[in-house]
Amino acid sequence: MEETMADPHFDVLIVGAGLSGIGAGVHLQKRCPGRSYAILESRPTIGGTWDLFRYPGIRSDSDMFTLGYAFKPWTEEKAIADGPSILKYVRETADDYGVTPHIRFNHKVRRASFSTPDARWTVEAETGGEPVRLTCNFLWMCSGYYRYDAGYAPEFPGAETFRGRIVHPQHWPDNLDYSGKNVVVIGSGATAVTLVPAMADKARHITMLQRSPTYMFSMPSEDALANFGRKVLPAKFAYGLTRWRKILLQMLTFSMARKQPAKTKERLLEHVRDKLGPDYDVATHFTPRYNPWDQRLCLVPDDDLFNAIKSGKASVVTDAIERFTPAGVQLASGKEIPADIIVTATGLALEVAGGVALAVDGRPVRFADTFTYKGMMFSDVPNFASVFGYTNASWTLRADLVSEYVCRLINHMAARGVDMATPRQRDPAMPVEPFLDFSSGYVNRAMAMFPKQGRAPWRHPQNYIKDLFQLRFGKIEDGILEFAARPAEASSEKPAKLSAAA
Ligand SMILES: Cc1cc2nc3c(=O)[nH]c(=O)nc-3n(C[C@H](O)[C@H](O)[C@H](O)COP(=O)(O)OP(=O)(O)OC[C@H]3O[C@@H](n4cnc5c(N)ncnc54)[C@H](O)[C@@H]3O)c2cc1C
Repeated sequence: MEETMADPHFDVLIVGAGLSGIGAGVHLQKRCPGRSYAILESRPTIGGTWDLFRYPGIRSDSDMFTLGYAFKPWTEEKAIADGPSILKYVRETADDYGVTPHIRFNHKVRRASFSTPDARWTVEAETGGEPVRLTCNFLWMCSGYYRYDAGYAPEFPGAETFRGRIVHPQHWPDNLDYSGKNVVVIGSGATAVTLVPAMADKARHITMLQRSPTYMFSMPSEDALANFGRKVLPAKFAYGLTRWRKILLQMLTFSMARKQPAKTKERLLEHVRDKLGPDYDVATHFTPRYNPWDQRLCLVPDDDLFNAIKSGKASVVTDAIERFTPAGVQLASGKEIPADIIVTATGLALEVAGGVALAVDGRPVRFADTFTYKGMMFSDVPNFASVFGYTNASWTLRADLVSEYVCRLINHMAARGVDMATPRQRDPAMPVEPFLDFSSGYVNRAMAMFPKQGRAPWRHPQNYIKDLFQLRFGKIEDGILEFAARPAEASSEKPAKLSAAA
């Protein structure tokens, strides 16, 4: 596409209108007043994850005091909230804070290229099959971490012979009737653990079929202390208190698990044994081969999964799948599980930066060749940030901090009168590590396309306190982030410098 004078220009373009993108808009309006911005969203609606996933029982597995924004108290009774309540919260935020009018729906961003002479990004999107182009000084990806068009769906031999229905949780059919049906859910992650108790009441029987077990931990879906606090204290203060209590508790349990894996494992398994009784085979179905937090733990709110198993309506089978048959699933052990519906809760297909093809001065950016700067910018990519939350805590805790940092950076550039901020990794002895230190299959499959990490600040610390210091309080000028003005020869022709806010 040829560049034209008519391309709309913004100080900041945000990609994605999910939890992160709406939060980014609120922070930007508050901290950088006067900056022009737009949010480009490929879908026709706000909410991202919380609008896309529609399977029975869809809920958070983090508490909403930390999955909610720092600036907007979560005031519902349930701390572990259902998908529609979270969606309502995100939409309400967008409306109440005046973000909604800035969103351009049905805009799928395909490419973005940065020009150093112009110190700006040209962003190419597609809307209704038509290409559109916009320009901006700063590009901010709030596009989540997985592909929206398809989940991870391994091919199962014999799938074409199965007479029932195969469903992926990312594309849940409207009004799927599973009353009185035999359902098999393949998987042992958060989605399977949510689906099994949620479908158990109506299904004839539901089986969670897993190759290997996952660690489970139980928690009440309501936080009595938080609900009491809200009744006797001002809402914002009560929310802040609960938020910090939850943050510290999450950090403590994670660090205990890493320091004392054997003890943590025993405590987790003891609870399962206690719930399922002495005759249940906890060793086979609930005892993973790895240590707690080598992979994500699964939340079982109010012991719902264990209650469904105890009631006899649900069961867990740990085995390998040999093939799908016309009537169900044939296992390596020789057993066959009858099924009318098979749900392939086999996970997400991870993606970096919304699948957008980036280039800097005509040179394509391969994320795998970059280092992550503070887990949010990339070596040699100017004026660009991307939100990636925590794997061991709530996503929004980090999304809020990244927003604070990006706003500080934009204000700092304006105050210094510079146009470009680029992280430069110049240490040839920098250790090279994968972006995520997690052994889960879906992570391993994707790490080859993710940026690398090394020594701080070239790391995503997966630690809220460390992030507070580097993102909220850390110096912007650290000798690594390189600042530059637009080259003089181009500046006489091109407007829209990132000037001090109007
Ligand atoms: C089922 C499920 C449950 C989860 N539960 C939790 C939980 O309890 N706690 C937790 O911390 N995390 C959880 N997560 C992770 C969750 O995704 C984050 O918490 C959070 O919703 C991420 O918000 P986001 O706005 O960054 O990304 P998303 O919610 O993924 O939103 C990204 C938005 O960007 C848009 N987009 C992407 N690419 C483009 C493009 N190229 N052009 C235009 N638009 C684009 C998408 O359409 C989408 O609207 C869960 C994830 C899933 C799938």
